[in-house]
Amino acid sequence: MSKAVSILGSTGSIGTQALDVIRQCGYKVSALTANSDIATLEKQIREFKPAVAAVADERAAAELKVRAADTFTEILSGEEGICRCAAEPTADIVLNSIVGIAGLKPTVTAIECGKDIALANKETLVAGGSLVTEAAKKKGIKIYPVDSEHSAIFQCLQGAPSEKSVKKLILTASGGPFFGKKSEELENITVEQALAHPNWSMGAKITIDSATMINKGLELIEAVWLFNMKPDDVDILVHRESIVHSMVEYNDNSIIAQLGLPDMRIPIQYALTYPQRIPSPVAELSLADIGSLTFARADEETFGGIKICRDAINLGGLYPAAVNSANEEANLLFREGKIGFLDISRLAGEASEALGRAGGYTLEDVFEIDALAREFVRNHIS
Ligand code: NAD
Ligand code: MG
Repeated sequence: MSKAVSILGSTGSIGTQALDVIRQCGYKVSALTANSDIATLEKQIREFKPAVAAVADERAAAELKVRAADTFTEILSGEEGICRCAAEPTADIVLNSIVGIAGLKPTVTAIECGKDIALANKETLVAGGSLVTEAAKKKGIKIYPVDSEHSAIFQCLQGAPSEKSVKKLILTASGGPFFGKKSEELENITVEQALAHPNWSMGAKITIDSATMINKGLELIEAVWLFNMKPDDVDILVHRESIVHSMVEYNDNSIIAQLGLPDMRIPIQYALTYPQRIPSPVAELSLADIGSLTFARADEETFGGIKICRDAINLGGLYPAAVNSANEEANLLFREGKIGFLDISRLAGEASEALGRAGGYTLEDVFEIDALAREFVRNHIS
């Protein structure tokens, strides 16, 4: 069955891999969006012929309008334009692969328009988990995980007799480039070292998040919302080879795992074709060639971001949003050479402590905390 897909953040790492999958599946594309990379977006528009496309940056959008004037694609601009793409009526499903909190409003818009969502943008759930999951429930739409760990869990849950039969989720973590190192050795890490992930090729923000391991903390929060779990029932297990993508432990102590080569096109494709499985361009996994798989406890003392996220989701309310936005700002400042590697998680934790508050919240509250957390980080550069 053919489907029409809107891809938000189509020029990024997940976005371009999603277009690879769409070529393979023969699906149609309804909308495409980018922040400012109009050279890539123009090529995508010419190949996939979406009804609409949007560029967040107003100036780049104006330039693309001229460049793509001979196509039938309507070019929109700004956050409003991106939300219009999320609402594009011809789409059956919206894949959100925008990075950061910028993905939250488009996700909410897609839900309000009754669209199913393939969600790569984990920050949506970290910052606005209760709003997003409640809105999805109310509208009766599905959120299919794209993050490899959550896709693995989703796959391991197929055939589960009930939610009650699930005892634990086990999120695997590669450990990133600094596995085994202690805090003293991490003080002077350079941007280049932190960007060299051993197993996955990804966008810059998530690559740094993986190096600090706060990515695994964000994923813990993502799992709590996606699978309705208690934070303490989500374990983290270091697995250096990135072959076992995550596991579900049932109440009879049987553990189901999902395995595959570390290639995001498998989880992207499953989110788009669910419940079908179709041939994939990703190579077969040969366990005989790999030989052995290893597992270890995460060093949560050195990689403090995991505990910061676990505490934030246990406190609830706007604590996770504060961690998310402070981390986003600190991650950027590190990439710009303005703060050290260890400052990233430290600032995320301090911002959460200073600004977090428990209880219910609105979308406006999330954006208010976003601004405050970014300001907090900029004011606390030592
Ligand atoms: P990326 O930086 O490669 O791409 C990000 C995309 O978002 C680009 O198309 C960019 O133009 C767009 N974008 C950036 N800022 C924007 C803004 N302010 N407004 C609108 N659009 C904007 O990032 P990525 O690695 O593809 O990651 C995307 C999301 O998927 C992230 O939330 C990340 O955590 C998640 N994810 C990525 C991977 C991976 O392998 N790359 C794996 C799991 C989850
Ligand atoms: Mg992941």
